[in-house]
Amino acid sequence: MKKIAIIGGGISGLYFANLLEKNKNYSYKIFEKKSRFELDDGYGIQLSVNSIKLLNEIGFSDIESQKVYFPKKVIFYDAKSFNKICDIDISKFNYEKNRYTTLKRSTLLNFLLKNIPKEKINYNSELSDVSFENKINLKFLDNNYETFDYLILSDGVFSKSKSIIIDKDSRPKYLNSIALRGSLKNFENNDISLYLGPNFHFVIYPVNQNNEFNFISIIRKNLKKEQINDQNYFQNSDFLETLMNEILSKTPVKFKDKIENLKSFPIFRSNGLSKPSKKNIFLVGDALYAFPPSFAQGASQSIASSKDAYDEIENNTDNYYQKRNEKIKAVNSRSMLNYFAFHLSNPFTIFLRNIFLKYLSKNKKFLENYLGKIYKN
Ligand SMILES: Cc1cc2nc3c(=O)[nH]c(=O)nc-3n(C[C@H](O)[C@H](O)[C@H](O)COP(=O)(O)OP(=O)(O)OC[C@H]3O[C@@H](n4cnc5c(N)ncnc54)[C@H](O)[C@@H]3O)c2cc1C
Repeated sequence: MKKIAIIGGGISGLYFANLLEKNKNYSYKIFEKKSRFELDDGYGIQLSVNSIKLLNEIGFSDIESQKVYFPKKVIFYDAKSFNKICDIDISKFNYEKNRYTTLKRSTLLNFLLKNIPKEKINYNSELSDVSFENKINLKFLDNNYETFDYLILSDGVFSKSKSIIIDKDSRPKYLNSIALRGSLKNFENNDISLYLGPNFHFVIYPVNQNNEFNFISIIRKNLKKEQINDQNYFQNSDFLETLMNEILSKTPVKFKDKIENLKSFPIFRSNGLSKPSKKNIFLVGDALYAFPPSFAQGASQSIASSKDAYDEIENNTDNYYQKRNEKIKAVNSRSMLNYFAFHLSNPFTIFLRNIFLKYLSKNKKFLENYLGKIYKN
């Protein structure tokens, strides 16, 4: 029986563990830095059909329908005038039980944890060193040692284990943007509403069938290094208020008092793709590559990368990194293009963008290429 270590119990690590649960040829352990999972937060996540298909393979379609939402459209608005620009029918890419889904992140984590026996998760556990003989020897900060056949690195965008395994500086880059997140109840629109403003955008979508909604805004901000590294800076209530007021001053939407649980954090993206020299080590999820959040593909691609890594181990092939590299390029270019187009500030370029958006949102060939290529596999 082959032994697999999974470093990090986020979306990608837990999905990988679910695949291993179904295969008696492997034993595994998850090593998670935190002392417990946050399983009651109300923030949302969008999952496109590519990852829903993979989740359905491990039983996600049986989840209580009240806990998820299936939006049909993304509706684009001009945040300044509040006028609708156009809409895209994302339900066109749905097939069988595989439907574009919005939900709370905690709903997804609870689902992924459901099938994992408690004794397979080691909390408060951080990798400190790795050495290789025939197998992979792992050393942890608490001085525990253990040997494995395969190593899955799924410890997120700031992956420490990646820096231990791969020498070169693989730290992610600050995207000059801040995410402002919150939740609200009873919003007027049940689709995904996307508001494009100068140097910011925000999105509101339902996270279940109980009229609960997620609010997420991406706001451009140049910050000093000390500010980026200071957690308290982002949780300061005056700072949150300033960010919210910045948005509200540029849009007629009056929902300030409706948004609860505001939080902000700096956004990072990966600084290139790193590949370990050993064949039995796999970087998955954000540890492999963290995308700008303007194409809502991070979690979906995290799940897809875990599936590809699992298939590579099962089939003893050697094309995981090449396959992921091609997908990363395609998703990254779309994420960056969205990020650029969503934040235009010059009235003339905004006017042109809106004309393009109206035309492209109804152009089948374009949608098939821009969204279908990513959503279909
Ligand atoms: C503002 C924003 C909005 C987003 N919205 C969406 C969206 O709508 N749709 C979408 O698909 N994606 C979205 N994403 C991206 C998505 O959240 C991530 O891509 C996804 O969570 C990555 O999963 P992961 O398992 O790789 O990492 P994570 O979910 O970050 O999990 C990493 C785990 O590793 C643990 N860990 C960290 N360091 C160590 C260590 N040294 N040792 C052991 N364990 C460790 C952490 O505690 C955590 O449990 C968004 C991202 C942002 C920033």
